[in-house]
Amino acid sequence: MQERCRVLLRFADLIEQHADEIAALETWDGGKTLEQTTGTEVPMVARYMRYYGGWADKIHGLVVPADGPHHVQVLHEPIGVAGQIIPWNFPLLMFAWKVGPALACGNAVVLKTAEQTPLSALFVASLLHEAGLPDGVLNVVSGFGPTAGAALSSHMGVDKLAFTGSTGTGKIVLELAARSNLKPVTLELGGKSPFIVMDDADVDQAVELAHRALFFNQGQCCCAGSRTFVHERVYDEFVEKARARALQRVVGDPFRTGVEQGPQIDGEQFKKILQYVKSGVDSGATLVAGGDRAGSRGFYIQPTVFADVEDEMKIAQEEIFGPVQSILKFSTVEEVVRRANATPYGLAAGVFTQRLDAANTLARALRVGTVWVNTYDVFDAAVPFGGYKMSGVGREKGVYSLRNYLQTKAVVTPIKDAAW
Ligand code: ADP
Repeated sequence: MQERCRVLLRFADLIEQHADEIAALETWDGGKTLEQTTGTEVPMVARYMRYYGGWADKIHGLVVPADGPHHVQVLHEPIGVAGQIIPWNFPLLMFAWKVGPALACGNAVVLKTAEQTPLSALFVASLLHEAGLPDGVLNVVSGFGPTAGAALSSHMGVDKLAFTGSTGTGKIVLELAARSNLKPVTLELGGKSPFIVMDDADVDQAVELAHRALFFNQGQCCCAGSRTFVHERVYDEFVEKARARALQRVVGDPFRTGVEQGPQIDGEQFKKILQYVKSGVDSGATLVAGGDRAGSRGFYIQPTVFADVEDEMKIAQEEIFGPVQSILKFSTVEEVVRRANATPYGLAAGVFTQRLDAANTLARALRVGTVWVNTYDVFDAAVPFGGYKMSGVGREKGVYSLRNYLQTKAVVTPIKDAAW
């Protein structure tokens, strides 16, 4: 136990010692800004590993009282071999979310990275071995989804599957798991998260937060605040300021200081996002900023803002996964709850208000796994994350993630000559 804990803590130290190389690799691979990979990704990976290192020697079962002369122990055992499939939008963080709890609970891991972003996981896996992880415990596979990913999902020797990616692929892996050995599956899938700005909001603050909620990581976040609902009383001011903020956003070489937005991950996503922009224009939304590629080389897209977006438009229904903000107008709390919940997704929501009653009502009424009130994208290691509805199955992070990697065994023995 203690050795498991030591390995994870040493790994966290090694992450920090190699911070510059890891951040550069992650930027190279995925086009994230170096400021983000240095300031967010690398420190968070170290934090996650310390968090799970702390758990490694504190996982224990129970002795439960049962009727009759029986001694009942409930043992928590490692589940066995964990198969893990991760996406390209947060290669390092998803590595940490998945590998940390699996190792803390004593499992072996086969992790498949996304085809677009194999580098950082390979590098940090070598650091994990340097930290003392025995050979064979963590196996990183750089492979394609329909071959390597499918093989992992349907393998009879894999005891548990954890997947993060699109809802469509999530359904495929769940089916493969069911058809093979019924391995339990946790899924972190897509979203169309509402960000709700009430009429009492400080508009400048709300605009900045809504901007970050959507544009962070080039808009490539499963929990991006991609439906910005704004109360009619502050709507016009909000739209004007959101437009100004988007126009200010610095797009360019992700290695350059001061750049806020790098390129999209690849040509396929780039084209898909521009098609969504076209669909927004065609369906009658008002394009107030951006709307085209940025520059003439690479997969850069202008920070784009649509106003007057209606619920039935494609840009309000489907996950764009790009720097495209959609602003929708609402009048009452009841209305915004109904409209915010009218989606197959349920990953996260943002609520911006100073009124405690409105915040409490919304936090309870929204059918989502995370509600951020007057903040967004706060991802501490201890806080559970996951989706309602078609945004996922199960929770990761915090104590909840440990349950995904443990088997529960009841051991019942008779007590002779019980003293009662
Ligand atoms: P995206 O469409 O954004 O690339 P995916 O959900 O397809 O998102 O990808 C997430 C992860 O799922 C990647 O590691 C990818 O290789 C993997 N994947 C894609 N297709 C399959 C599949 N049929 N079976 C298992 N894994 C897959």
